[in-house]
Amino acid sequence: MKTYEVIIIGAGPAGCTSAIYAARRGLKTLLIESKEVGGALLYGSTIENYPGFESIGGIELAEKFKNHVKKFNVEILTEEVKDIKTLKEGFEVTCLKNKFLSKSVIVAQGVKPRQLNIKDENKFVGKGLSYCATCDGPLFQKKDVAVIGGGNSAFHYALFLAEICPKVYILHRSEFRADKVLLEKLKKMKNVEFKQPYEIVELTGEKMLNSIKIKSKDKIEELKVSGVFVSIGQDPNTGFLKNLDLKLTTEGYINVDPKMNTNVPGLFAAGDITGIGKQIIIAAGQGALAALSAENYLKH
Ligand code: NDP
Repeated sequence: MKTYEVIIIGAGPAGCTSAIYAARRGLKTLLIESKEVGGALLYGSTIENYPGFESIGGIELAEKFKNHVKKFNVEILTEEVKDIKTLKEGFEVTCLKNKFLSKSVIVAQGVKPRQLNIKDENKFVGKGLSYCATCDGPLFQKKDVAVIGGGNSAFHYALFLAEICPKVYILHRSEFRADKVLLEKLKKMKNVEFKQPYEIVELTGEKMLNSIKIKSKDKIEELKVSGVFVSIGQDPNTGFLKNLDLKLTTEGYINVDPKMNTNVPGLFAAGDITGIGKQIIIAAGQGALAALSAENYLKH
C-alpha cells in the first residue's frame, strides 16, 4: 500500500495551503479531493476580503490556488474518502477505489449546504431548486427567482442573480447576519425585493418548480418563481470520520486546539470543518498551521 507522511483531505483554501506548506517542508504529501480543487471558492462570486486581491472571482482564486499547489509537485487525487482508521503506525485512509497509509492526516473537507427540510425539496433539486447560485444561476437568466437565507452567502447569491434575473426575492426568517455593505448594495437594486420575516413552506410545480408558498405570522402568500436558491448555512462534512473517536463541538464541527491538533494524535483539522471563522483567509491560515503541526508531530 502506498505510504505518505501526510495525507490532506479536501482541496479548498485550507487543504491547498496545508499542501503548499507540507510540500515546501519536504514531506511526502498526498492531497485528496472528491470534486475539484477550490472547495467553497468554486461557489463564491466576487471575493473582496482576501488580502492582496481587492476584488477577485472565486473561480479565479481557486485556479490560482491549484496552480500554486501544482508548482510544488504535490500529488493530487480526485476521489471520495470513505473512511479513516487509526493503526499503530499511523492512519489507513480508504477512498472509493484506493487505500493509503499515512503517518499523519489533515482533515480539511469543509462543509455541505444545509437543507430546508420541507416537503418535495429533494424532488425539485435540479428542477428549479439549487444550493449554488454561481453554479446554476446562469440557467435562470430572464426568470424570476428567490434566495432563501440572510447570511453573507445568500446576499452574494442575490447580488449575482440580480445581474441576470428580472426579479430576485430575498426571503429570510429573522434578522440579517450578512455584512452591512452587502445589504446596502442590494437595497439599491431595483429588481431586488426583501421578504422578511418570512419562511418558505411549500414548493410547487409539475415537473419543474414554478411557484412557492411563503409564510409570515399567519399570512400565506404565493410567489411565482422559476428558481429557488437555498443558502441557509452549512453542516460539517464529518461522516467519513465515524470510525475515529474524534471530539466534536456541540454543533458537530471538529474540535481543535490553537495549533489545529484534534484529540486524535497525528490527526489535524483546518478550515470550515473546524467551525471557526469560515473565511478564506482564516481557512488558509489554519491550513498552514496544521501542516506545521503535522511536521512537528512527525519529527517527534
Ligand atoms: P450563515 O450561518 O452566516 O447564515 C445562515 C443564514 O441562514 C442565517 O440567516 C440563518 O438565519 C438562516 N438559516 C439557518 N437555518 C435555516 C433554516 N432551517 N431555515 C431558514 N433559514 C435558516 O451562513 P452563510 O452560508 O451565509 O455563511 C457562512 C459563513 O461564511 C459566515 O461566517 C459568513 O460570514 C461566511 N461568508 C463570508 C463571506 C464574505 O464575503 N465575507 C461570503 C460568504 C460566506 P437565522 O439567523 O435565523 O438562524
